Formats: sequence, C-alpha cells, structure tokens
Amino acid sequence: MKKAVFLDRDGVLTKMIYNEITCEFEPPHCIENLEILEGVYESLKQLNENDFILFLVSNQPDYAKGKTSIENLYEVGIEFRNRIINNGIQIKEYYYCYHHPDGKVKEYSFICNCRKPSTFFVEKAIAEFGIVREKSWFIGDRESDIQCGKTAKLNTVYISKDNLNSFGADYSAKNIVESVKIILKKN
Ligand SMILES: [Mg+2]
Ligand SMILES: [Zn+2]
Repeated sequence: MKKAVFLDRDGVLTKMIYNEITCEFEPPHCIENLEILEGVYESLKQLNENDFILFLVSNQPDYAKGKTSIENLYEVGIEFRNRIINNGIQIKEYYYCYHHPDGKVKEYSFICNCRKPSTFFVEKAIAEFGIVREKSWFIGDRESDIQCGKTAKLNTVYISKDNLNSFGADYSAKNIVESVKIILKKN
C-alpha cells in the first residue's frame, strides 16, 4: 500500500519574503531569498523513513503576474531541489504550475488545468505511483491547498500561525514539524 504526502512549498517548507513595495509576503524570487524553514529537513526525513512518498505541488504565478522572470523561478526551484537532495531527502516529483488566470504575461495567463485547487498533479501522481488516498495527506497554508487535498480525498493539514480558519481541513498545525507529528501519530 503506497502512501504519500503532498506538500505545498512556500510558507510550508520555505519562508515567505516580505516585499516592502507591495507590502505583501511573496515566494522567494532569487536564491538569496530562499530560506528553508526550521525543522523541514528533519520532518521530511521522518516521512521518508516511514515510507511516505513525497510530492511537491506548488503554484508559482509570479512570472505570469509580471513580478519576476521565469528564469528566476526556475533557479529557485533548482536550488530548492538541490538543498532537499543534499540533505538526504527524496521528493519523488516536483510539480509546478506557472500559470495565472489573469496575469500580465500572455503565454502564461489563462485558465490552466494544473493550478491548485485543481487536483491535476495529485491525480497524476496517484495514477502513476499507485498511491492509496486514505493513507495519504496534503499539507498547505492556503485555502486552495486544502480544497485540492479534500477534492482528491486525501487527509489534510492546514498550516497557520493563528488557526482562525482551517477551511475544513482535517487538522491544523503551526508548522511542518507539528504537521508531521500529526501524520505519524495517525499512521
Ligand atoms: Mg503556500
Ligand atoms: Zn497551471
């Protein structure tokens, strides 16, 4: 019985970066801003050791929105993967959606199939690797993550600092460390 954990990236595994111009927290747009959150490596390693197959499912619309270049987004993605590998962790597939329904860059601005809450990548992984839904999880920090996980009939953990609204997630947690503790307890 193959079980998986589907992981959102930004705000779950990597630190969101405050942009003083837009006054918003954004995903890292350059390697210098890529910071892996505390406890991520240890937590993911624990999931690996407990036979969970890991998948990354990440929306990256900031090129489509005209906020950064596609090369920058690729570069951050490559560096992220290198750090994961260098820390002895296996993430089976890295699924990225670069589209946005109303962005500024024409070729990337349309209603695509793969942007969360779409389950496109999750379904692809489930089919390709024979993942059992009831034994599998989605961890994310946005409503779209929880919606995606619920639609795919996975267990869901919503990561939030204030825990005000968990969007119907099965569990909420403050961070990845707490999330993994919940998952391993239910395992
Ligand atoms: Mg996120
Ligand atoms: Zn897409």
